[in-house]
Amino acid sequence: MQASRIRTDIDFSADGKQVSWAHLPHSVHESAYGVIAMPIACIKNGDGPTILFMAGNHGDEYEGQVALTKLIRRLEPGHIKGRVIVLPTANFPAAMAGKRTSPIDQGNLNRMFPGDPNGTPTPAIAHWIESVLFELADVICDLHSGGSSLDYLPVCMTKRQVDPEMTRQAIAAVQAFGAHYAVLMDVVGEDRTSFSAGVRSRPRIVIGTEMAGKGTVGIEALRIAEDGVQRMLQHFGLWQGAPLVAMPTTLPTVLEVKGLAHYVYAPDAGLFEPFVDLGDRVVAGQPAGQVHFVDDPMRPATVSYFNGSGLVVCKRLPGRVVRGDCVFHLADELAA
Ligand code: CA
Repeated sequence: MQASRIRTDIDFSADGKQVSWAHLPHSVHESAYGVIAMPIACIKNGDGPTILFMAGNHGDEYEGQVALTKLIRRLEPGHIKGRVIVLPTANFPAAMAGKRTSPIDQGNLNRMFPGDPNGTPTPAIAHWIESVLFELADVICDLHSGGSSLDYLPVCMTKRQVDPEMTRQAIAAVQAFGAHYAVLMDVVGEDRTSFSAGVRSRPRIVIGTEMAGKGTVGIEALRIAEDGVQRMLQHFGLWQGAPLVAMPTTLPTVLEVKGLAHYVYAPDAGLFEPFVDLGDRVVAGQPAGQVHFVDDPMRPATVSYFNGSGLVVCKRLPGRVVRGDCVFHLADELAA
């Protein structure tokens, strides 16, 4: 694999607290020898596991970015045994623009793995994350929210791994995070370029969140993110001393997203009227909503239906849709 062009003055093997930037060369009209300066922190104290926390994979998903910015300010080496690496704004140009994708190359970081060291900024960042940061980590925690176009129940999630023992450990971590729901994502038809596809071939615990969204910073979602990050330090044994946040006493039920049958897409372009809301339970064959054609009032609305049964965990926000927009997705109790 070719070496990344991204450089940082952080020494990941050194004890102590280092907060700096990683520099991606970006020579443009306004800045001939310029770099994109991406914040990164490494807090290390002796031997122990390494957790990589990241947020801003999608730039308009804010709770994780706030939670990790606060973590960088508060976490000191004396608090932990091991190493915490924090990347609060992973797709930095997208995060600064408050957009899902990068304004420079329109790149969706979560669809760019394993990336390209010589590509435009987004694939170059993906390559650096996978080839440098993932290599350092035993546990990877990627904090997402619904973003501008989705609203989510607060969930912590993981995917089935090749090794059942790793899946068991990942599910235990997801439950310990303390979000309202623990979700096992399907790998059926998985996008091979997504973040977790990039790490699934290697034995690392990979977890993530989806919480709230709407392009805002939700008070409840931020609390869940901050507490969850702290619980991961406690759960994986890095945190020294008394727990800062109580671990969940009753573990959330594990739900599973079971393939395409759990997704509903807009059947036509128009104005979508939802029939159900987040947190509702639905059954296969139940109408999900209908698309109205407000420019042609006498044309009947087109109804869309759920193809599977379960809990509505994700809902599209904007009323206008085009055919193919995801309007809902479900999750259902894990098959025994
Ligand atoms: Ca996302």
